[in-house]
Parts: sequence; structure tokens; C-alpha cells
Amino acid sequence: MSTLRDAFGRQLHYLRLSITDRCNFRCAYCLPQGCSKETSAQPLSGCEIERLVRAFAALGFWKVRLTGGEPTTRLDVCEVVHRIAAIPGVTRIGLTTNGYRRAEIASVLRDAGLKALNVSLDSLEPERFERITGSSRLANIVAGVEAAVAAGIPSVKVNVVLLRGMEDGELDRFLEWTRRLPLAVRFIELMQTGENGEYFRQHHLPAEEIRKKLEARGWVRQEQDPGDGPATTYRQSGYAGRAGIIAPYSAGFCDSCNRLRVSSTGKLRLCLFGDAEIPLRQLLESDHQQAELIRTIESSMQVKPAEHLLREGRSGRTGNLASTGG
Ligand code: SAM
Ligand code: SF4
Repeated sequence: MSTLRDAFGRQLHYLRLSITDRCNFRCAYCLPQGCSKETSAQPLSGCEIERLVRAFAALGFWKVRLTGGEPTTRLDVCEVVHRIAAIPGVTRIGLTTNGYRRAEIASVLRDAGLKALNVSLDSLEPERFERITGSSRLANIVAGVEAAVAAGIPSVKVNVVLLRGMEDGELDRFLEWTRRLPLAVRFIELMQTGENGEYFRQHHLPAEEIRKKLEARGWVRQEQDPGDGPATTYRQSGYAGRAGIIAPYSAGFCDSCNRLRVSSTGKLRLCLFGDAEIPLRQLLESDHQQAELIRTIESSMQVKPAEHLLREGRSGRTGNLASTGG
């Protein structure tokens, strides 16, 4: 099996693919005004997605995560999962979602071959949840997470963006969820993007604060597995699930980078917060272009940056994460 490495010797095997830039939520740190219908560009079709993922699979990518915008706003999301799951070499297909359609599609996604589901859920308090997301569907989303576990999707994670105002009681409710269910609840430090500067200044909560709280509650940091990516995992005896911290502002965060991103219109992004964008869509028109597509991806690796420059307040081209897929 072929492997793809960048100029710093990092082996890349994980593709994050945005399948739409549209979203039905208005998260305060991401798309506070929601997304306007007119500006949305035509996303890659199922056929284009399949060609793209085949090329990455030929380069040794075995892990693919679909994201957005909100991927479940695409009516063919289950068909897209099914297509990707059938590509030789892809052994793990995941989806990141705000949970809007979760309960109704959990078992369909599982049958389509989905192996990993990440639900973004920043608060368990209905009012706070609505203030953050503009949605009043908290109860449905919580039910959807439980439905996904019950449906037997092998990995179910809840991603919580850390925001000032999260009280200890809420932290404890998230942790309590992992006592009963084999869930991973991961706390993610808010990142500054081109558009959320003011919100970031007011709401950024350093991951270090949560780390101290977890350790004070007896959670124990686990050995990092090389395939884990950037999350630090914590466990506690008597709990079926686990907790995690993703701290993009910590030193060395990018050293274990194993991923590439492709936007919903087929632009290869080498770093979430970088400037480089390599258009691939013109190479997705026919199966005969596969060799050229693979060469284009390979040759881009020389310019994948060593690390993001978030600590210097630089977020590259990234206006918000809905456009690049988070
Ligand atoms: N709409 C889907 C969702 O919310 O899960 C998928 C796309 S969303 C951009 C992917 C993830 O990025 C979500 O977990 C979201 O909370 C996170 N995210 C968005 N903007 C962020 C920011 N500025 N800092 C940290 N995480 C962010
Ligand atoms: Fe939509 Fe996800 Fe951004 Fe929230 S974080 S606005 S759900 S894309």
C-alpha cells in the first residue's frame, strides 16, 4: 500500500471532506447569521466524491470523515456514505454533524457503512444551547446521540466547544453521560477564525482549565496512540466512556497532523488555517483523470505547512469553519 508523506515526514492517511457549505444552525462562533441561500456554491456530486476518495485511497488514506456545513442537509448523505464505504482501502468512514437529523438516520447511516459519528453539542442546557446555536432541538439531539449508540455505530463521540460560561454543573453532566454510555466526550478549545475575532476574545476558554478540572475529578490521562490524532484521552474507573481534550493552541499540536481537507467544491486545503488551496474539481470529471489527480495531490505535499499560526492570531484563508469543514 502506498503512503503519502509531507516535507516534514508526517504520514497522512486521514481525509476530511466537506460535502456542503450549507448549514441550518447559526453557531455564534461559526455562522452567527446562518448561511444565505444565494451564496452557496454547487457541492461535489456523489460521482465526483467517489473519484476523489478513490484517489486518496490509492495514496493510502484509510480514514475519511464527512463534514460541512451540515452534511445531513444533503439528502443523499447516506448514499454518499455507502459509496465511500465500498471503496477498497477505506476502512473507517465517519461523519461530523450538529445532530439535527440524527435519530431518524442513525440506523440508515450504520447500514450504509458508517463507523464513526461525531455529534457537536456545546451545551446540555436548553437555553444556553439555543443561545449558542440558534436551535431549540437540544432534546432531539441528545436522543439522537443515544439512538446512535443503540444502533451500534462503533464509535460515537460528542464534541463540545469550550466557551466561557460553561459551569461546573454542566461539565459534570457531560461527564455523567459517559458513566452509562460508551461515549467519548471531547472538549475542544475555541479557535479564532477570520470572522469570529470579537466572539473569540469574549468566549475563549483555555483547554488547560478543563484539564485541571478533569484531573481534580480523578480522570487519568491515557497514553497517546499514534493513530489518535490530536486528542488527549482521559479515563475514569467505573465509566463506560471516556473524556478528551483537543487543545489546538498547545505547543506541538501540529506535530502529529495526519490529515488533509477538501472543501465542498473540491479545493484541497493543506492546513485548516493555511493559505494554500489547490483546486481538484477539474480532475474529477472522468475516471481517466485518476493518475493526474493522484500526481496533483502528491506534488502538493511539499507545501503543506509545518504548523498553523493561530497563536499569532493568524487564521489564513479560514473565515469560518463551515466553509472548510472544521
Ligand atoms: N455542522 C457540523 C457540526 O457542527 O458538527 C459539521 C461542521 S462544523 C464546522 C465541525 C466542528 O467544528 C463542530 O464540532 C464545530 O463545533 C467546530 N467548530 C466550528 N467553528 C469552530 C471554532 N471556531 N473553534 C472550534 N471549533 C469550531
Ligand atoms: Fe453549522 Fe456546524 Fe458551523 Fe454550527 S458549527 S454553524 S452546526 S457548520
